[in-house]
Amino acid sequence: MSAKTFREQLKGDRLESGFAEAKPPYSQSEAQIEANRCLFCFDAPCITACPTAIDIPGFIRKIGTNNIRGSAKTIFEANMLGTSCARVCPVDVLCVGACVYNDLNSEPIHIGRLQRYATETALAKEAASGRKLFEAKPRVGKKVALVGGGPASLACAAYLELEGVQTVIYERSDLPGGLNTTGIAPYKLDTEGSLDEVDWLLSHGSEIRTGVSAGSDVKAEELVSEYDAVFIGTGLGKDRMLDLGTELSPYLLGATDLIRDIKNTSGFEISDIVSTVLIIGGGNTAIDIAREMAGLNVENVVMVYRRGEKDMSGYRHEMEGARKQGVRLVENATPVQVVEEGGRITGLEVTTDGESQVIACDLIVQAIGQESLVARLGFDIETNDRGHVVVDAETKRTSASNIYAGGDCINGGKEVVNAAADGREAAFSMLRSWGIEPSLAR
Ligand code: SF4
Repeated sequence: MSAKTFREQLKGDRLESGFAEAKPPYSQSEAQIEANRCLFCFDAPCITACPTAIDIPGFIRKIGTNNIRGSAKTIFEANMLGTSCARVCPVDVLCVGACVYNDLNSEPIHIGRLQRYATETALAKEAASGRKLFEAKPRVGKKVALVGGGPASLACAAYLELEGVQTVIYERSDLPGGLNTTGIAPYKLDTEGSLDEVDWLLSHGSEIRTGVSAGSDVKAEELVSEYDAVFIGTGLGKDRMLDLGTELSPYLLGATDLIRDIKNTSGFEISDIVSTVLIIGGGNTAIDIAREMAGLNVENVVMVYRRGEKDMSGYRHEMEGARKQGVRLVENATPVQVVEEGGRITGLEVTTDGESQVIACDLIVQAIGQESLVARLGFDIETNDRGHVVVDAETKRTSASNIYAGGDCINGGKEVVNAAADGREAAFSMLRSWGIEPSLAR
């Protein structure tokens, strides 16, 4: 790491700085009132709905008795990225969606906001007092390389460090954190919040080497021979782009590139000539960028999806939120080609049931998925027909005995909480393969 912390490398003149938080943090009294509404259900469905199976009634009960340190430990034992997950998890379709209050026609418990209260309060106290929530055990003589510095690798590395395993994370970007740093909608989690969490995760002992690309700067075979195990948590690569009959330009972009610029690029702006943005896609990335464009006061934001709304993979509650911000959806429209005039994009030709129409726009953003990065890394492991790494569902072990993988590179793009769960499972599998029973296993 350079002399500057990752947070200090960020510039203030980033577009994301202008977004207000969608859900501001709870005060102590708000958190306690909400915690005391919980029914502390036996066989709580909220736990089952959480990919990391956090003991949700357990951590909520501790908030109720003002044992915030204990509450945060309960969360982190199951999910080391509990701080960011509290803000970025799609709780409406996970824990909150499963809360029994939904069946009682009452407001479900705001689990994400309680989790945020517990984790942020406990980490602020840890920083102020120097009394750590978790102490790493003495070294056990094993070392692990982790490829990619996103949620899966960070979770895996933290659990390994706590058991005394030396870890080195290789991250090709200058800023670590993966999608939490580059791809989460700013009104959910800003880059500062992601980098603060990264600093805390690394504080358990991991080394991170940023600006280092596995596969080129460091070869796969070097990692395999130098380390006792390797974890691949690279996420996904470049945006997939449809051939729309023209070159890429500042007005024909990939969604993840644009989101990254909004979040992290100093001085980045949306040009004044843009009054209509057209977004191709029906997933959560498409909805996210649509909502960000609306939040940046672009006059018209239009999503174009090739099938009907019911077929969209994006969450319904997010689409409802987008609509409330004025986003329009054009269904059953297949993009054909960009329409240009005088060197500028003026529209997108689409077809619906064989009928062609041109939707006027100044900027087109493609959000139809991302390419796999794994082939470029050079590991001799099995991948599926989409280029994703094949792993054993329980151990996260690949077809090579000392190589593990997790996160988007195995699932093609799920949630941060899924990546955190994969990282934890891979760490525990490695430890068990060395005869070490993880102390945080339940
Ligand atoms: Fe509390 Fe709802 Fe979970 Fe029951 S389902 S334990 S009420 S959060």
